[in-house]
Amino acid sequence: MKNAPLPDKPFRILPAVTDQNAHFWCGGKYDELCFLRCDVCATYVHPPAPVCPECLGRELSPEPVSGDARILTYTINHHPWIPGFEPPYVVAIVEIDEQPGLRLMTNIVGCSPDSVSIGMRVEAVFEDAGEDGIFIPLFQPHRDYAA
Ligand SMILES: [Zn+2]
Repeated sequence: MKNAPLPDKPFRILPAVTDQNAHFWCGGKYDELCFLRCDVCATYVHPPAPVCPECLGRELSPEPVSGDARILTYTINHHPWIPGFEPPYVVAIVEIDEQPGLRLMTNIVGCSPDSVSIGMRVEAVFEDAGEDGIFIPLFQPHRDYAA
């Protein structure tokens, strides 16, 4: 994972950072993609919740993952829905390597939208939102993907 200086940073509607989700939105400052993880059964829980859905444990702690993932599905948006967020761009659902079902909706950056495919290996990269310590987790082609 790298805090790549992303050119032409698009306008984004930013999340509201709370004590419950700060680990997720602010972990990029430390180059870390973090999720809550159950202290009892080690299940990653996302979106953040007060109770583990697997064992109903109530002790969950933020823990960084590798940031490596694969694309489950994606769409290329060609419509300028948000002023300043220029199409085309890729909206994808990625699954994090550490746990089946641990999924994020995100954007794929650092490559042509035409080069994106289902099953493609990707890695987390963070975009400094410039407010509230927020670093948006995005994904780019995996460093090993060129092989
Ligand atoms: Zn649990």
